[in-house]
Amino acid sequence: MCGIVGYIGNRNDVGSLLLNSLKKLEYRGYDSCGVAGISDREILVKKDIGKIEEVDKKLDFSSVKGSIGIAHTRWSTHGGVTKENAHPHLSNNKKIAVVHNGIVENYQELRNFLKENGFSFYSSTDTEVIPNLIEFEMRNGKNFEKATIDALRKIEGSYAVLVLNADEKKLIAARKGAPLVLGAADDGHFVSSDIPSFIEHTKDVTYLHDGDVIIFGNSLKIFNLLEDKEVIRPVDTVEWNIEQAMKGNFDHFMLKEISEQVETIQRAVEQDKSIIFEIVQQIKEAKGIFFVACGTSYHACLTASYLFSKIAKMHVNVVVASEFPSYEHFLTDKTLVIAVSQSGETADVLEAVKTAKNKNSKIISLVNVMGSSLHRYSDQSLMMHAGPEICVVATKTYTSQLAILTLLIYALVGKYEEGKKELKYLWNLIYNLTSANIRERIKQLSERLKDSNHIFLIGRGLQYPTALEAALKIKEVSYIHAEGFSGGELKHGTIALIEQGTPCIVFVSEENEKEIISNAIEIKTRGGYIIGVASKNNEVFDFYIKVPEVGNTNPIAQIIPIQTLAYQLATLRGFDPDRPRNLAKSVTVK
Ligand code: GLU
Repeated sequence: MCGIVGYIGNRNDVGSLLLNSLKKLEYRGYDSCGVAGISDREILVKKDIGKIEEVDKKLDFSSVKGSIGIAHTRWSTHGGVTKENAHPHLSNNKKIAVVHNGIVENYQELRNFLKENGFSFYSSTDTEVIPNLIEFEMRNGKNFEKATIDALRKIEGSYAVLVLNADEKKLIAARKGAPLVLGAADDGHFVSSDIPSFIEHTKDVTYLHDGDVIIFGNSLKIFNLLEDKEVIRPVDTVEWNIEQAMKGNFDHFMLKEISEQVETIQRAVEQDKSIIFEIVQQIKEAKGIFFVACGTSYHACLTASYLFSKIAKMHVNVVVASEFPSYEHFLTDKTLVIAVSQSGETADVLEAVKTAKNKNSKIISLVNVMGSSLHRYSDQSLMMHAGPEICVVATKTYTSQLAILTLLIYALVGKYEEGKKELKYLWNLIYNLTSANIRERIKQLSERLKDSNHIFLIGRGLQYPTALEAALKIKEVSYIHAEGFSGGELKHGTIALIEQGTPCIVFVSEENEKEIISNAIEIKTRGGYIIGVASKNNEVFDFYIKVPEVGNTNPIAQIIPIQTLAYQLATLRGFDPDRPRNLAKSVTVK
């Protein structure tokens, strides 16, 4: 995944405009970046490896003047992290510049074809075929617009691209399988991978569809490659404000997003009742239900499976999206697939959904990004309404997912209002759990744990997925090895790793208190340092984090202190929790 943004309008400071926009897209990728503008019918490209701030310091993006330009922050898929591979990429005659998010699957074939036609390549990216294919089409007498459309028709794979031509004041943008939104401001148009990059200029956005090509010239038109005609897309007004998209007073987005849960859980519960009941009906009619998701969203689905069993006495399958092909034989037109993804662009999830669609199964999705591919591919969607999640690791969208899935299960057993009340009741509790007091208390624990080699986490029943998710949070940002187990399982092998002082976090609920405390004692006996997340203290705990008992919504409440712990471990160990190594916000490759 990477971030792209372009501007065309009346302002003359495109370099600084794009720099500002690019910074809001950095969560999408940050191994290299670049900007291109036009000066005297020549394309000026400034690009290099490194984070935006570093590269800007070196190259001064604001020195790119003019009223039209494109920019990119890269998370490479093809070709190493080098200056040559950074975007924008130029065509051989240096007249066409392209930034690209996605993968050109047939790039080798296209590259060979272009080479046979005298083109040279200066990078090892898949992207570089795009500007050259456009140049090739233009050499055959086509104008910029026609050449770009014809070039795009030859590309297999996924893309969101922005294209500049040195000889015209025109910008072309297109998408297929990668996100792209258009923002119409008073003094020009922005087109970008995500709304935060231009929200300070406009709240009027147009979500583009697959196959859309926008041609910005004196006027703006949208041509759809798949429908082969001009189309009109509606303009929506986004509800977020700039503060929501920015860090505010917090040092990191991760902490900000943890704190936002007071509000986001409430928003998640504000669903369109009629959609919830339509979905309930589909769940009742389905012959086989599959949840598909990856990472944190998978843990939310796993929690939902426990709630389905406990509340609705119903069996559902939960499958990691990349493993879904093995389940293909069980899919029919009566199967219901519930796909969960924050970004709605997770390649493994989209692939699973495609498999299910081929079998005519019904698709319901839970997404945070309106207009995302998953949102559009689904028969019905529930929106998380969590606002943009900038930090690479998921926090607030996890609890939004849990809240929505819990509400759905309550609705399924005719207890919609009761479920809503229980979830709304969490407000006060979440407020306390995200308060400065609790943060201070968890800081003491972070100091104790910061040099640990391993942290183990256990929970039973509903607390088991919580243990898995809590372990993932700790690993993702602090790089301490953490592993979650069901309470009964640790003793079947991994207990061999418990030594004097090995930390073990124990999630307790009223329902399974006796059993899980007994598991904690087993660990303590071998020297383990026991951290209890529970509604009441217990003598086995060496450190106690109080989280009041809230029954079926325990998973929402109990994860929050551990999100905070993960954050503090990362910062104490000197890592940037917003940009964990090797991770990108949404994994748009298989
Ligand atoms: N495939 C392109 C590259 O490697 C774009 C990367 C992406 O979208 O993440 O440069």
